[in-house]
Amino acid sequence: MKIAVAKEIDPSEPRVAASPDTVKKFKALGAEVAIEPGAGIKSGLPDSEFTAVGATVSADALKDADIIIKVKRPEASELAQYKRGALVIAIMDPYGNEAALKTIADAGVAAFAMELMPRITRAQVMDVLSSQANLAGYRAVIEAAESFGRAFPMMMTAAGTVPAAKVFVMGVGVAGLQAIATARRLGAVVTATDVRPATKEQVESLGAKFLAVEDEEFKNAQTAGGYAKEMSKEYQAKQAALTAEHVKKQDIVITTALIPGRPAPKLVSAEMVKSMKPGSVLVDLAVERGGNVEGAKAGEVVDVDGIKIVGYTNVAGRVAQSASSLYARNLFSFIETMVDKPNKALAVNWDDELVKATALTKDGAVVHPNFQPKA
Ligand code: NAD
Repeated sequence: MKIAVAKEIDPSEPRVAASPDTVKKFKALGAEVAIEPGAGIKSGLPDSEFTAVGATVSADALKDADIIIKVKRPEASELAQYKRGALVIAIMDPYGNEAALKTIADAGVAAFAMELMPRITRAQVMDVLSSQANLAGYRAVIEAAESFGRAFPMMMTAAGTVPAAKVFVMGVGVAGLQAIATARRLGAVVTATDVRPATKEQVESLGAKFLAVEDEEFKNAQTAGGYAKEMSKEYQAKQAALTAEHVKKQDIVITTALIPGRPAPKLVSAEMVKSMKPGSVLVDLAVERGGNVEGAKAGEVVDVDGIKIVGYTNVAGRVAQSASSLYARNLFSFIETMVDKPNKALAVNWDDELVKATALTKDGAVVHPNFQPKA
């Protein structure tokens, strides 16, 4: 069983799919691990850290690998190096990229999308959406603090008092909860909102104040899967009125709101942005899905009359060492389920619900039900 750790070819991707810890664990399963040279360097992991735990470093690492692990979906130039029948496991970003899936299928490899992992107890340790969102939520606050011209905590000094920063977190899923906790640790006064009633208690347990339109629709806004529904126009109007009143008094707004399979809800209008004081900062973590803040641009910091809208993409990648370490553990835990331990051999159970949920391609075809060509 040969496992290869790919070096990402996207120059904006600093993460890597393995850590010295997971290499050790793969070795214990009986695997040989080969790393492409420099694969971990942007995550603070030089090749020597991997060789020290028994990996080999080789420019040909991918060629005869049974499993290739990486961060982003492989491109055609990478697929050309994989042997037919190999497994490739990554964050595949499959929606809207059906042509790329066809290319992967044509290369004869079996591709698995880690972000399609079911959010069930058994797979919690493999949940890349959570591991990466957690870090993104943390980092969003750090970015806000970096762009903000004032301190976050209240400081009473001989030279005068610095007031605490007021932080408003919109969307209280995994990223939002970590943003609240981080902003509180820095001493900010934190408020937060969501459309799912379950979040109220979570917000309050972190020492922040909950603010939302709590009408009948709100009481039913959570799907059976634990996600938010898209809200009605009427609710959106009530929510906008509440947000407009609140946002103008805030120093920092961090938005994380997403709805599965839909564009991100627009929560902060250009007018609301302009109502904030100069020097205020908005960080839009939903920018890659269309953004929660009007005027946010993916990959950019937009200045609106002295108010900054931070739209960094791959925010977890801005804490690359931690993001890689958690992602590597997510991958290891999944691959471990595919190994016949007594025989130290790869033995994928194609009927396993985790495999079925994540497998995109197999034997030259796109096999995932969500990506079948329309009849
Ligand atoms: P997400 O990334 O899909 O969305 C982020 C947040 O935005 C959610 O809390 C959502 O309710 C909120 N939102 C959507 N529309 C909004 C609007 N119009 N206004 C305000 N907020 C809005 O969510 P997530 O971080 O993936 O978490 C979703 C749920 O899944 C949570 O209940 C979480 O606890 C749960 N979860 C379960 C597991 C597991 O069981 N293994 C793992 C992770 C998360």
